[in-house]
Amino acid sequence: MNADLHCHSTVSDGQLTPTEVAARAHAGGVTLWSLTDHDQLGGQREARAAAESLGMAYLPGVEISVTWAGRTIHVVGMNVDPENEALVKGLEATRNGRAARGVAIGEALAAVGIPDCYKGALRYTEDPDMISRTHFARYLVDAGYAKSTSDVFARFLGDGKPGFVGHRWSRLADCMKWIRGAGGEPVIAHPGRYDYTPVEFAALFDEFIQMGGRAIEVVTGSHTPDQYREYADVARRYGFEASRGSDFHGPGEGRIDLGQLPPLPDDLTPVWERWL
Ligand code: AMP
Ligand code: MN
Ligand code: MN
Ligand code: MN
Repeated sequence: MNADLHCHSTVSDGQLTPTEVAARAHAGGVTLWSLTDHDQLGGQREARAAAESLGMAYLPGVEISVTWAGRTIHVVGMNVDPENEALVKGLEATRNGRAARGVAIGEALAAVGIPDCYKGALRYTEDPDMISRTHFARYLVDAGYAKSTSDVFARFLGDGKPGFVGHRWSRLADCMKWIRGAGGEPVIAHPGRYDYTPVEFAALFDEFIQMGGRAIEVVTGSHTPDQYREYADVARRYGFEASRGSDFHGPGEGRIDLGQLPPLPDDLTPVWERWL
């Protein structure tokens, strides 16, 4: 089973359409696939149709932006019903504010001598209400301000950098209710990316369990190989099921392509087992 349960399309901040991502997943050997756009289910119908025409098993998914202890975390809703009304409404409310934040990011960058970024970034998104830092990053690279998108985050858009604009996303408790209510399983995305202290991490995992959470991403394109081992140990300690996903955004972007990650360690329970 080559499961890749985390990636993005043009519906959020990916570079390929859902159909193109499906074809690339299939070409990369993926046999169980999920498209998990940020805060948006608009690509699910197309993704499922493309997966089925290629003979790939499909799980509907979404990656939800959450504010916890003053910072942003991402929770993947796995195998959700994309038509569920409370989930659709919750995601709408979560997206709401991206446009205004985009304008504020543009102003913050103008203040450090980089003008017209909001207008520039808009050219990189299909939907102005979905504007994300990734679209700003692609614009800044193409405009010659940085050599790569990760360079943009390190210098301009990461937490504490001049173009960083704080934002309030959804609450963890709400996000968990939307996912469960839509028949899905919440999965903490790429925990290794969060800048929490050990005490904060323990509080996050405890709270997640209290709210009914039981799965985290272990092998993800957003972790280093050291972090695969670190979060495999976290999964063992807390009894979490484990997920695997490239977090693919586009060709040549990110650390790893669709279907190319190493397998989960044998002793962990894959989150997808219950759906097979
Ligand atoms: P936003 O939801 O607008 O805050 O944008 C977050 C997105 O930016 C993530 O989903 C990633 O695609 C991207 N991102 C975050 N940090 C980095 C980084 N260090 N390097 C490259 N992309 C990043
Ligand atoms: Mn992204
Ligand atoms: Mn993420
Ligand atoms: Mn992602």
